[in-house]
Amino acid sequence: MKFKFSLKVHTQIFIAMVLGVLVGVIFGGFTGVLMPIADIFVRALRMMIVPLVFSSLVMGVVNLGNIRDLGKVGVRAFGYYLGTTVLAVVLGLVLVNVIHPGLGGNSNLLSHSVQADVIHRGDSFSMVDIFTQIVPENIVESMVKGEMLPLIFFSLLVGSALNLIGKKGAGFKSFVDGLNEVMLRITQWVMLLAPVGVFALMATLVGRTGFAALKPLAFYFVVVLCGLALHLGGTLSCFLLAVKVSPKRFFQAMVPALATAFTTSSSLATLPVTMDCLERRVGISNKISSFVAPLGATVTMDGTALFEVVAAVFIAQVYGFDLTIMQQVVIGLTATLGSISAAGVPSAGLVTMVIILRSVNLPIEGIGLILAVDRILDMFRTVVNVYGDACGAAFIACLEGEKLDALS
Ligand code: ASP
Repeated sequence: MKFKFSLKVHTQIFIAMVLGVLVGVIFGGFTGVLMPIADIFVRALRMMIVPLVFSSLVMGVVNLGNIRDLGKVGVRAFGYYLGTTVLAVVLGLVLVNVIHPGLGGNSNLLSHSVQADVIHRGDSFSMVDIFTQIVPENIVESMVKGEMLPLIFFSLLVGSALNLIGKKGAGFKSFVDGLNEVMLRITQWVMLLAPVGVFALMATLVGRTGFAALKPLAFYFVVVLCGLALHLGGTLSCFLLAVKVSPKRFFQAMVPALATAFTTSSSLATLPVTMDCLERRVGISNKISSFVAPLGATVTMDGTALFEVVAAVFIAQVYGFDLTIMQQVVIGLTATLGSISAAGVPSAGLVTMVIILRSVNLPIEGIGLILAVDRILDMFRTVVNVYGDACGAAFIACLEGEKLDALS
């Protein structure tokens, strides 16, 4: 297990982000010329997702060896993810109830109008739907659509079957192994683009939105940010410390993934980088990272769940609704479920917000209040989503007996 930590990449990406902000502030809308570069970076990342997840998950299962070990890792991973999401939700509820960002001086916010497409995208979901849709009707269609849960399910089946058929599957196994190596190598090439890609994403975003939108919602914005910071620096650090991993060094090792999450606002697009950092910079084995990281990117979003409870209670406060404890529990549960069903793409959290508001009969138009700052908050919550997944992989790897010596 080798741990390579190059300060260079980390510094390059940081400088790229700062330069991106400066260029965005100075050139404003003219930064649109950088859009193709930003697009190429994000498209290159997305290009990797399906083949990388398929090949590395199949090889992960093959390397795990037997179904019992797979089950054990799966149960631990799911337990970790559910546990941290619930902690994030509780933290969000405590903060928004103690600080009350929606009370006083916010009545002017009620004049904002909501974007209708967000409301219409918020179809209802149920636990039963989530489970039935895990089984793909047509795996090629699921791959084309980038549906993660069916892809994970299918890959687990292929890996398990490969284990059972022994020699007959040798040819296919070495093909998938080769595919996995190829994908990992291409991910490294894509990562060479990271500083330029991150710069272009940052410059175009700041150039387009600027910071003006922040002002009227500053209080709400700060509460969400505090919650995200406390979850990342407090709760998740405790999990790392529990398995003797230094949070500071782990954070540093994950910087390329976190910067990619911040600038793309998509935990799914970041997945190849997350896996690359976990394996090459943190030193987690492929068999754990290939299983736990895609699962985390799909079924858990701590940052999104935290943001959703704060936003829902904030909206209730602005509209003058007094939520009972029970209603807040419903909000928390729906946010936890919502973070399982939400896709790791930009603004996915806004769509599940509709369901949360509906669950306690809050006005859906309330989403209009928070839209102005959502693009920016999305960046921060995506960082927490990705960091939560990564901590999960480290936590499970250590429970499985892997030693991350370089990080302790
Ligand atoms: N953009 C987030 C992610 O990809 C999801 C969200 O909160 O909107 O993780």
